[in-house]
Amino acid sequence: MKHKFDDILATVGHTPVVRINKLGPPGVDLYVKVEAFNPMGSVKDRLALGIIEDAERSGRLAPGQTVIEATSGNTGIGLAMVCAQKGYPLVVTMAENFSVERRKMMRFLGAQVVLTPASQKGTGMLAKAIELAEAHGWFLCRQFENEANADTHSRTTAQEILHDFKGERLDYWVTGFGTGGTLKGVARVLAAERPDTKIVVCEPDNAPLLASGIPQMRAGDGAPAGSHPSFRPHLMQGWSPDFIPKLAEDVVSLKLIHQTVAVNGADALRCSRELAQKEGIFTGISGGATFAGALQICESAPEGSSVLCMLPDTGERYLTTTLFEQIPAEMTPEEMEIARSTPNYRFDAAPPPAPSPFTAEPAPVTAEAQAFVDDAVDDREQPVVMFALEWCEFCWSVRKLFAKTAIPYRSVDLDSVEFQAGDRGGKIRAALTARTGCKTIPQIFVGGEFIGGCTEVFDAFKAGRLQSLLGQSGVAFDATISLDPYSLLPTWLHPQ
Ligand code: PMP
Repeated sequence: MKHKFDDILATVGHTPVVRINKLGPPGVDLYVKVEAFNPMGSVKDRLALGIIEDAERSGRLAPGQTVIEATSGNTGIGLAMVCAQKGYPLVVTMAENFSVERRKMMRFLGAQVVLTPASQKGTGMLAKAIELAEAHGWFLCRQFENEANADTHSRTTAQEILHDFKGERLDYWVTGFGTGGTLKGVARVLAAERPDTKIVVCEPDNAPLLASGIPQMRAGDGAPAGSHPSFRPHLMQGWSPDFIPKLAEDVVSLKLIHQTVAVNGADALRCSRELAQKEGIFTGISGGATFAGALQICESAPEGSSVLCMLPDTGERYLTTTLFEQIPAEMTPEEMEIARSTPNYRFDAAPPPAPSPFTAEPAPVTAEAQAFVDDAVDDREQPVVMFALEWCEFCWSVRKLFAKTAIPYRSVDLDSVEFQAGDRGGKIRAALTARTGCKTIPQIFVGGEFIGGCTEVFDAFKAGRLQSLLGQSGVAFDATISLDPYSLLPTWLHPQ
């Protein structure tokens, strides 16, 4: 099969099944289906494509119509990709306690994200989505009730599993549920095509919604009417919302579930880490949780059993969550030891003498360069001028201060294409150094007066001197802003 596609949407699905070689107990064949291989890194790409194409076919979604959905993140990220590719505006409602990188990803893909209070849980973000859809006539995806969600899994995920285990044992299929789309879509196909495969559903041990046997209260349209009494907040983002979704309940009614397994949060985190460190498989918290459930199944499974575990998404989505809490950003004592085991490139030893770029022969000061500097510095039309390098982080720190305080300025970017020919940038820099005696960049002037570099500008701002110079030069800016300019420096410079 060729691996060349007409658009990104054609790459959704067809995720690999991978054998677990070290973490599984002997005597059982344990496999994972790695949904992180989807273009946006989660199983929800399937649902996003399935729901949007179903709505297009049925005419419920018109060209250019806004799409809206309540989502803990992965659905929104998948929808953002699908809507970007197909040209639909997308609004996502999301409780504020889900990880920040998810919001940013959706916005990066062009979607708008409306946050709802964490205290109102999943039901709150859903209610907001319904309210917005009704008020504005937007297409609401209703991932928790939409049959297209389960259908897409019957058509894709389930068929892939049938194909990959054709002629081989598959004794247990292990999943969690968020919407229940994966569960319903795959379970009903396995029940029909592989009746010997046992369907195992994992839940957080402190929120056993299905295991409780307590039915979910619902409104007429199948949507939940309030939180389920067995719900407690848990770690597994994307798993067990605070209600039993219609799609998950259908699977209970159809009696397709062979067993539910309770998974502890700490075990979920440990399994996610162990999959990464022992198998090189990078999955999120719900992947770790499903894997923890699959390991429980393996323990009691008869010798020779074959177990398939769903891993819904990539671990990269959890950098700011509990999953990465124990992962340090700074060097550990062991890493420090490695650094000290050879003499150079260390923070705790003086660097060896090296030829400095500043001791290199400076470019000659030409009359043209000198005139350029003098004209720029003395230009009364643009009293604030910064000689800069285009992507230097210190220059950017000054730019941020000027942007936040609405200070208009001219930036002469010495390394930009504009100044490349004949090393004009280098010549201007030499003329600048000849004028100020300062070799570093950036260099900032206000009304012809040399202020200095980044820290001098920041100190002048803190002391109020920059503001009075701006006033004297007739520069209008936002004098109401108070901030510590040092907070604008690159984060790697901040003291621990
Ligand atoms: N894990 C994660 C990280 C998810 O985002 C989701 C989807 N909400 C699931 C598991 C569960 O998938 P499904 O909605 O198909 O039940």
